[in-house]
Amino acid sequence: MALSLRPARDKLGVQPGKLFIGGEWIEEANGRFDQIHPATNEVMTSFAEAGEAGVDRAVAAAREAFDKGPWPRLPAQDRKRILQPIIDGIYAAEEELAQLQTLDNGIPYHFSRRSRVSGTAAADIFDHYAGWCDKITGETYPRFSSDSNLHYLSFREPVGVAAAILAFNAPLAMFAIKVGAALASGCTVVVKPSEYANLAVERLARILASSDLPPGVFNFITGGARTGSALATHPGIDKVSFTGSAAVGEQIMNASGRNMKRVSLELGGKSAGIVFPDARSVEGAARTLMGLCSTFLSGQICSTPSRAIVHRSLLAEFVHFAGEQVKTVRFGDPFDSATNAAPIISKRQVARVLGYVDSGKREGATLCFGGDTPGGELAGGNWINPALFVDVRNDMTIAREEIFGPVLSVIPFDAEEEAIAIANDSEYGLAGCIFTTDIARAFRVARAVRSGSVGINGYASSPHSPMGGIRRSGIGREGGWAAIEAFTELKTVVLNLDG
Ligand code: NAD
Repeated sequence: MALSLRPARDKLGVQPGKLFIGGEWIEEANGRFDQIHPATNEVMTSFAEAGEAGVDRAVAAAREAFDKGPWPRLPAQDRKRILQPIIDGIYAAEEELAQLQTLDNGIPYHFSRRSRVSGTAAADIFDHYAGWCDKITGETYPRFSSDSNLHYLSFREPVGVAAAILAFNAPLAMFAIKVGAALASGCTVVVKPSEYANLAVERLARILASSDLPPGVFNFITGGARTGSALATHPGIDKVSFTGSAAVGEQIMNASGRNMKRVSLELGGKSAGIVFPDARSVEGAARTLMGLCSTFLSGQICSTPSRAIVHRSLLAEFVHFAGEQVKTVRFGDPFDSATNAAPIISKRQVARVLGYVDSGKREGATLCFGGDTPGGELAGGNWINPALFVDVRNDMTIAREEIFGPVLSVIPFDAEEEAIAIANDSEYGLAGCIFTTDIARAFRVARAVRSGSVGINGYASSPHSPMGGIRRSGIGREGGWAAIEAFTELKTVVLNLDG
């Protein structure tokens, strides 16, 4: 029997989506678009394309709430007291949120429920940011000279109206990172999820809509590139917090110059996983790197090390265990506990990934396995068999461009400096990891790799530590205090005690 996600959708009572603007759920008359499930290409439901009119309305509501409403001026304790029931509401809905996220992007349910992109993780992230409300402090400065009786102090004030634009792959965590930090900082927000993944975010929006947030503080709109562009370029927006591709990030960066919007850009990556001869287990490293490219979100994670930079002496063993790892991959119903890999988000992205596989072959890399699509009951969905390339040179297209799919490229090295040089020879600089048991080497290489973060014998982001990239991987950091800084402006107040 052909795979269908309709029973899961019907069980969850999924309805056509609405917009939440200025404290009201509204229908927008600008047209609608279908949200399609990537495992089957069935329509799950439809959402409103907010378009310019919807964006205008949402920004006006957020502007009014920021300029005239109480939220930016509330005492810290009051702000935190309003956020606390939202956190409780997210924890209470964690199961349903996980199911909706699986209906959004096809992430296997057991990952959606338990991993660091789960509903529980979203609540943890919100909880972390709510804790900042009463710790957003400025500084006082010592008297500078005896010529005057001027005293200087600084305050951190909310940056204003923030636009939060999300990618499709981890909507729950991404929402919490942006909206949690913006609200804790006293900003008002307009959030727009990816057109491919609206369901879980709409459920979160319902939790915020039923909270005591004043009208206009939180607004939820849906739509594709046109709506995203209208939001990112709107003159009423003070700050854009964007997660997505480098191509769109570049457009946002260019457009922001017009009114000097603040921008935080969390973009793509082409991170390196470096396997040294003194790694504790070559099998472990091979399974980790191939596993990240083939299970969970099937390589559709920004921080995935999609270049395995492997010491030449380990190549045969690495390829063997990468092959063994791929034998554990199971496609199918994402709600089935046996399924451990996600479909590719859209047919367009499938074509793009297959194009990269072709380019790898054309440019002289050797495809060990995968890179084709399965048939049978999976033929209706966007599945790609995980691919491993060897004989890859770092100047090949598959080593330079972000593929965002299940393709791992193995690049050999002989000396440590060569491994570092290959890792750093990239337009991107998001994450990466190192496999070694030599602590001195681990520290040396971690410091030498040019990226926003590096893992030593393992990697995972966390709500309380900074995450972000350099070069085309973006600007700014999310996580912990760095995110609060990004949603606040520093104001200096000068007090003349002789005045
Ligand atoms: P995308 O750039 O296609 O879309 C991201 C969002 O931008 C969507 O909401 C989309 O509707 C909107 N958008 C599209 N065109 C726009 C425009 N011109 N102006 C404003 N908004 C616009 O990215 P995607 O396919 O959803 O996500 C995959 C990308 O996101 C990958 O490159 C991945 O590496 C990156 N990503 C980065 C991080 C990180 O933390 N660095 C995390 C997750 C994903």
